[in-house]
Amino acid sequence: MTSQTLQLLPAATTTLGVIGGGQLGRMFVHAAQSLGFRTLVLDPDEASPAGLVAHEHIRADYLDEAGLTRMAAACAAITTEFENVPAQALDMLARSKPVAPAGSCVAICQDRADEKAHFAASGVACAPYAVIDSEAALAAVDSALLPGILKTARMGYDGKGQIRVKTREALAAGWDELKRVPCVLEQMLPLALELSVIVARGRDGTVVQFPVQQNLHRDGILAVTQVPAPGVSPALAEQASAAAARIVTEMGYVGVLCIEFFLLQDGRLVVNEMAPRPHNSGHYTINACDVSQFELQVRAMAGLPLNAPRLHSPTVMLNLLGDLWFPGDPSGTEREPAWDRVLAIPGTHLHLYGKTSARPGRKMGHLNITAATVEETQQRAQAAAAVLGLPTEW
Ligand code: ATP
Ligand code: MG
Repeated sequence: MTSQTLQLLPAATTTLGVIGGGQLGRMFVHAAQSLGFRTLVLDPDEASPAGLVAHEHIRADYLDEAGLTRMAAACAAITTEFENVPAQALDMLARSKPVAPAGSCVAICQDRADEKAHFAASGVACAPYAVIDSEAALAAVDSALLPGILKTARMGYDGKGQIRVKTREALAAGWDELKRVPCVLEQMLPLALELSVIVARGRDGTVVQFPVQQNLHRDGILAVTQVPAPGVSPALAEQASAAAARIVTEMGYVGVLCIEFFLLQDGRLVVNEMAPRPHNSGHYTINACDVSQFELQVRAMAGLPLNAPRLHSPTVMLNLLGDLWFPGDPSGTEREPAWDRVLAIPGTHLHLYGKTSARPGRKMGHLNITAATVEETQQRAQAAAAVLGLPTEW
């Protein structure tokens, strides 16, 4: 069911539902509850971060028909928090209840080939690439795409499902290693830095955006986000924002979406990929802006007004991975990081996701650090990183 005029006023009897129980769902639930809505999560995991805090948790698989039927009956509107939610589940729910984003939009973001075709349709440049979905397509690959990165078209995240290849032989071996599933080969580009934009589009077509974020990845996982982005000029930020607006408008998207970009060493901006939901690089908005990415997701799905967000504090976000729970020795005993020492630093905002066991690489939480000036924010962030044993270079 799609409705351009749907409007749900916050009320304790009005339930907003989210498919997926991870940390993004948890922060969505927090935002929805803060506005006064009732919340429901559908996720198979008994201890899912979002399920633990929602008013109601349906423990069912994402394609479980009984679970989806119960969800549709209980909710006034439904959204998703992870991008590999089967688009069929969203389509099924949409037969009886408003769903945002639509299954068709999520489906585009789930497939790198479809996603790149959508970027082209929106007039936004991405890395030169080829789709590899057959022996013939492999043989026809232009050698100018090498060295490149072979990425599975579907289900990749945090750098998983990617192989860097320098030669045609390595490409063929890499495709074998990825079990010959449909892939894209992207030319390896000389990056100056990475940035992203969080954009929200309402049912009435209103588009609002947060300022661009500068992101640093370590081992394929987001490690640090900085806003204002120190390496991004106003003209470049404007270019990224305009591209983001075209991408969501062209899709008729409703909800919050993140678009990742590369700034190349020659100054060109190219789009990397998008995620049809709030994003790790937008977590800073909770403490640094007058409205968070999660509140905008609530407002967009409920048909409530979208106001342009205002950044009120410079901020650094540090991702907190499970490695921090095993200082010095990944096979050692798990112990809590020194939160008391972190929280002693002014302007630190700790967000832990309620995961009961840590694993190296697992996203356990994030730390937002704010201050009145960029310099002070950086000093505080350096101090917090040092306490946690994280690198202080970014
Ligand atoms: P996530 O979903 O966690 O953002 P992902 O697994 O979907 O990540 P990508 O964003 O495609 O993966 O790539 C991960 C990282 O690899 C990028 O952030 C960038 O650092 C690097 N990378 C990806 N594609 C290219 C490219 N064409 N040229 C240079 N570097 C690249
Ligand atoms: Mg990415």
